[in-house]
Amino acid sequence: KMHNTILELKGNIRVFCRVRPFLSDDGIDSVTKTISFPTTTEALGRGIEVVQQGQTHPFMFDKVFTPQSSQEEVFVEISQLVQSALDGYKVCIFAYGQTGSGKTHTMMGTPGSYDDKGLIPRSLEQIFDAREKLKEQGWKYEMQVSMLEIYNETIRDLLSSNKSCSTDSGNKQQYAIKHDSNGNTNVADLTIVDVRSSKEVAFLLNRAAQSRSVGKTQMNEQSSRSHFVFTLRISGVNETMEQHVQGVLNLIDLAGSERLSKSGSTGDRLKETQAINKSLSSLTDVIFALAKKEEHIPYRNSKLTYLLQPCLGGDSKTLMVVNVSPAPSSVNESLCSLRFAARVN
Ligand code: ADP
Ligand code: MG
Repeated sequence: KMHNTILELKGNIRVFCRVRPFLSDDGIDSVTKTISFPTTTEALGRGIEVVQQGQTHPFMFDKVFTPQSSQEEVFVEISQLVQSALDGYKVCIFAYGQTGSGKTHTMMGTPGSYDDKGLIPRSLEQIFDAREKLKEQGWKYEMQVSMLEIYNETIRDLLSSNKSCSTDSGNKQQYAIKHDSNGNTNVADLTIVDVRSSKEVAFLLNRAAQSRSVGKTQMNEQSSRSHFVFTLRISGVNETMEQHVQGVLNLIDLAGSERLSKSGSTGDRLKETQAINKSLSSLTDVIFALAKKEEHIPYRNSKLTYLLQPCLGGDSKTLMVVNVSPAPSSVNESLCSLRFAARVN
């Protein structure tokens, strides 16, 4: 590994929190403030307080973004982490939170727009810009992209030209996950595309979004019930320096974390609920075990953690962005998300 970047001081896991602005859909109760941001020297930019039934619950994170924080302000805080993928690190950035809390806005935003584009398009622009500069120092990079969705513990290839959703079609080998001893992950039959510019990736992201929305009408708002995993593999060679790096940048828009009650759901809905609960709690368990430096890390308990195994732990770097809605009607869910994040932190 070449240059060392952030994250050394406090392990490799960082947690940010972002509270989105009020929306007209949040109701008229916007005067009742359930969320506030303490301004003491210690808590400024890091603290958040939630009032529930007259009780104040304070939390501290590595960084807290208020409803006024722009996409650019959020990106500035992750750009070093993104850069480290070019230095050969494996990086995962997750957006966690209930449906409607701003996960997709944070990750994708409005892709074409200048101000509103999210972390994924900004990261790609930065990486391709940096690649140009590193060329002058003799570095040659190759980049590959894949995009998939995990729904009901089943992988769906979002870049496949075959649009069928019948992933349960009995073909057990399809999308089987294998890790080799170099920490490379291979997902059988998954479409992997060589990319040379952020424009090419933007085109693919658009295709993936269309592929997701096909599922959405067919599968009951599937997009908020599934995990979206964007993966950029980076391979760099410098012949004069005789160096070689292989980094991975995973950007993940997680399924909605709202407590899904098991009572009342039956059949497919119950299966879906159990799959989400299982994979989100597995992710928490893995990150918690890593933070505690436990001997056994339970990667195998879900598709998501197993897929990302080489990118979680070791000298990889993880950032969790916990998205929170300011709506008083969401206060219970917001507390759940913050408690989850505080546990990871
Ligand atoms: P999620 O993906 O968690 O379900 P979304 O990202 O779709 O949530 O956000 C829900 C709504 O809130 C969308 O209409 C989105 O545009 C809006 N929104 C979320 N975060 C912000 C923000 N920081 N600034 C402005 N609008 C936001
Ligand atoms: Mg979303």
